Amino acid sequence: MDAFDETYDFVIVGSGAGSMCAALVMRAAGKSVLILEKQPLLGGTTARGGGAMWIPNNPLMAPAGIEDSPEKAIAYMDAVIGDDPGSPGASRERRMAYVREAPRMVEFLMGQGVPFSRVTVWPDYYDELPGGSQQGRTIVADIFDLNELGAWKDRLFPTALNIPAHFNDIWKVKDLKVSWEGKRAAIGVGLRTLRDKLTGRQRVSGGGALQGRMLQAAVKAGVEFRTGTPVQALVIEDGGVKGVAASAEGKPLRVGARLGVLVNAGGFSRNQEMRDRYQPGTRTEWSSTSPGDTGEMIREMMRIGAAIAQMDAFVGNQVIMPPGSKDGEVRPMVQNTVAAPHAIMVDQTGVRYQNEAGDYSAFCQGMLARNRTVPAVPSWAIFDAQFMRDSMLAMEASGSKIQGWIKDGFVRKADTLDALAAAIDVDPGQLRATVERFNGFAARNRDEDFHRGDRVYDRWLGNPHHKPSETLGKIDKGPFYAVAVYPGDVGTYGGVVTDTHARVLREDGSVIPGLYATATSTASVMGRVCPGAGSSVGPGFVWGFVAAKHAANLDNEAAAPAGVSARA
Ligand SMILES: Cc1cc2nc3c(=O)[nH]c(=O)nc-3n(C[C@H](O)[C@H](O)[C@H](O)COP(=O)(O)OP(=O)(O)OC[C@H]3O[C@@H](n4cnc5c(N)ncnc54)[C@H](O)[C@@H]3O)c2cc1C
Repeated sequence: MDAFDETYDFVIVGSGAGSMCAALVMRAAGKSVLILEKQPLLGGTTARGGGAMWIPNNPLMAPAGIEDSPEKAIAYMDAVIGDDPGSPGASRERRMAYVREAPRMVEFLMGQGVPFSRVTVWPDYYDELPGGSQQGRTIVADIFDLNELGAWKDRLFPTALNIPAHFNDIWKVKDLKVSWEGKRAAIGVGLRTLRDKLTGRQRVSGGGALQGRMLQAAVKAGVEFRTGTPVQALVIEDGGVKGVAASAEGKPLRVGARLGVLVNAGGFSRNQEMRDRYQPGTRTEWSSTSPGDTGEMIREMMRIGAAIAQMDAFVGNQVIMPPGSKDGEVRPMVQNTVAAPHAIMVDQTGVRYQNEAGDYSAFCQGMLARNRTVPAVPSWAIFDAQFMRDSMLAMEASGSKIQGWIKDGFVRKADTLDALAAAIDVDPGQLRATVERFNGFAARNRDEDFHRGDRVYDRWLGNPHHKPSETLGKIDKGPFYAVAVYPGDVGTYGGVVTDTHARVLREDGSVIPGLYATATSTASVMGRVCPGAGSSVGPGFVWGFVAAKHAANLDNEAAAPAGVSARA
């Protein structure tokens, strides 16, 4: 290995979901580890985002009296994901390994001083299926004061959840206009934010708390980091990956890796060329991912023979594009808007075409599918004065911002439905017919077309104080409003194919020695669906954990959980 400038036991490319978890495993085993990050800041989209992790049978469930088991979790994943030979990332063996390793990963991190808590209710997205959980299996890192990072504070990628608010509060604040609980939660968050300003604290939640806490633990454990250091190539010797070739401050840097290289370099949401090839009809500017999500490490792994799969899959998130919202930043998300009572979404011909309260990812896939036959990108969210009274547009609490959007025509407003139809260039008769049909469903509390409200999840998204349905409400009180909705994303879901040890595989199923991969650089264990909140970050962490255990030759050969047997 003397061709290398430096050599570590384990080298990790990218500082996303799983990198620091893998690094902590390595440090616990007494190994040296280096994380190379091309951006000036650490943490990737993982730090920017919600940081929620979908961890079935997690150690926080039983103490809270929530029943779960490996058998239930596997039954649910089987029911949601199905059997699809085109989704090798989601093979039954990999699902079983996920269910087995996910709680172990959380226990390991808690033992390393990273505290997690449950989101009290965040139902599985298909809670009605066998094994589905109505309370959900989602955990988050506890709120974190960035000041605890000391000199490392300014090296973390900024989070969108730059407030001291646990998701348990955020989901109450959504109901701010209709409940005292919502108002209390909003006041609580406001007071905490003010107190932080006065005391100099910088408490963050979601991905900021997760990656902040991970960085704190990693620094303490002696993990080494290099930022502004893009990896350009994997170095192969004797048929295996032995290190990486990077660029540090414009100079070549070759780093050797005795036990292996883990690629945790994100997906390709910010690469239009790859989108055109694998996800035609989608656009980088609709994405909320970090600017580093440009896919070159997936291409590099392909260059050395890695198989890829599920490249058409992504985690959609319906967004609006108001003036002032910038490419490269988080776009305002409107899942709760379209799922609230007195709101629907229609295509450009004024026809409603799917359950607006379904999971955000399937929703965006639905928009793209519709657009193949009828113009539906963008589609129009249609809502009325009752919506404006009770609900928040894009979780935007500021009335003056919404008024500004109306004033400059970004949100269309009209006194009658016919006038609204004219304002969005839709046939008034069609829009009236769509709304009348939907109003009939609301009156009968039954969506005969798309079953909106049948699931616990749909109703949870809506307004808990709206009766009889939390999500179905007539659109019949003017003025009426419309805003254009796009099929945005929070990340891609396809990439290199990996096995149950997170080793990267070739087309023929053989292992590329020395190469591991995790998170959105890989074909997801969730196939093409999101079973629940945290379906990207959870697997990112779990496969990072698994990869490091394998590379360090630690315990990862444990038997499948009792009662869960591999299907022939
Ligand atoms: C607003 C928002 C909310 C979200 N909420 C959730 C949620 O609650 N739960 C959930 O599961 N998902 C959520 N997501 C999606 C999720 O955050 C991402 O899918 C996930 O974090 C991606 O993790 P990753 O490790 O693959 O990529 P990243 O976290 O982006 O990390 C990859 C890193 O690799 C670096 N890199 C890339 N190429 C190279 C190279 N050649 N050399 C060196 N470094 C490189 C990148 O710069 C980046 O920092 C959310 C996303 C957004 C935007």
